[in-house]
Amino acid sequence: MVEKAYKFRFYPTPEQESLLRRTLGCVRLIYNKALAARTQAWYKLQERVGFAQTSAMLTSWKKQDDLDFLKEVSSVPLQQGLRHLQTAFPSECCANTNFFSGRAKYPNFKKKRNGGSAEFTKSAFKWKDGQVYLAKCPEPLPIRWSRQLPKGCVPTTITVKLDPCGRWSVSLRVNDTRDLTLKPVTKQVGIDLGITRLLTTSDGEKVENPKNLQKLHKKLRLAQKSLSRKTKGSNNYYKARLKVAKIHARIKDSRLDYTHKLTTQLIRENQTVVVEDLAVKNMVKNHKLARAISDANWSELVRQLDYKAKWYGRELIKIDRYFPSSKRCSNCGHVLEKLPLNIREWECPECAAHHDRDLNAAINILRMGTRVGVRRKGTPTKKAAGLAVSVCGATVRPEEITRRAGAMRQKAPNSNARESRAVTQVQRREDVNAQSLYGRNLFFGCFME
Ligand SMILES: [Zn+2]
Repeated sequence: MVEKAYKFRFYPTPEQESLLRRTLGCVRLIYNKALAARTQAWYKLQERVGFAQTSAMLTSWKKQDDLDFLKEVSSVPLQQGLRHLQTAFPSECCANTNFFSGRAKYPNFKKKRNGGSAEFTKSAFKWKDGQVYLAKCPEPLPIRWSRQLPKGCVPTTITVKLDPCGRWSVSLRVNDTRDLTLKPVTKQVGIDLGITRLLTTSDGEKVENPKNLQKLHKKLRLAQKSLSRKTKGSNNYYKARLKVAKIHARIKDSRLDYTHKLTTQLIRENQTVVVEDLAVKNMVKNHKLARAISDANWSELVRQLDYKAKWYGRELIKIDRYFPSSKRCSNCGHVLEKLPLNIREWECPECAAHHDRDLNAAINILRMGTRVGVRRKGTPTKKAAGLAVSVCGATVRPEEITRRAGAMRQKAPNSNARESRAVTQVQRREDVNAQSLYGRNLFFGCFME
């Protein structure tokens, strides 16, 4: 069984729109009030406020005369908003939550201009004759059904969303009981993610970065400039802001559409897909590459490969990000000292093989990944270490652990040290600094033989 979300556009009636806008407003208000209460309790009194306490606060807020309007909307989305706050910023120090596991920053206040969302659980909506009836809404939501829900599936949770450019959408979460596993194939592929070329596969297939985004970027810059000239709060200001939001949405949509088509194709055609486990967050800190990297949408690409592999019974292997995939000759294993970013093709000094930079990297990634994959699949963890030794002369795991420890150090309060480390990470990946190469070759010498 797979949990899936189906997203549809809908066009609310004026009454529905008014109710939904008020609902989103209340969700935002409650979220922000609870976040403020938590922050204050912690910084002033060193007290932790949990979901139960914020839920009790909600009850008391509803009783206040000036917050009377909270009763006009369904109470479920308000509660769910508090739950989301709990996962974003937990009061108990449990490792599964976003903030303490280091995945997210301290939560921000929600802003009206970003739209908003409201989550309705089973008690707050009705599913009748293939229509959605939200609480306090007598008419069904006019959803544009662009595709069918899988047969026999009933939504378990419904999220109504308004995006910054004013589009309404609804996301239906369902438990898909169908078995989606595809017929097994033998093909395996390694993928090198890049900037000039979005990806290169080990079969030699090259996928370019979509060009239409560059045109939109130019448009976006013009729109942003025009927005900056408007008087804040004026009618023209809001119009210009909407224009900027619309271009942002178009960029996001076309990028996502492109990534979806690409990942579905890769997963359908290959049994095993190997990618590098990239630290995109750190790489984006390099300002010269930031836009290009965010534009390439690597993390979304890998995320999609990951869940699609699970749906369709395929395998995704992520290899260590410090593996020298670019500089290593895929023919003889020779590792170059230096390979600047601008060199797209090179010749191996040992075996004279001619390499396309990205293709060579993709082949190395596939090789490394299938080695790791064999070990992971074959044996339980106890045996795995011994097997790793016999396979490539040294274990992979212990290195990963020491690397992780290094990564933890980046979170030290000393911001200078953090920045310089972030830069060296980019350099490490793309082979710029000769000094760091020395250490790295020592580290990976064991793989080369
Ligand atoms: Zn060679």
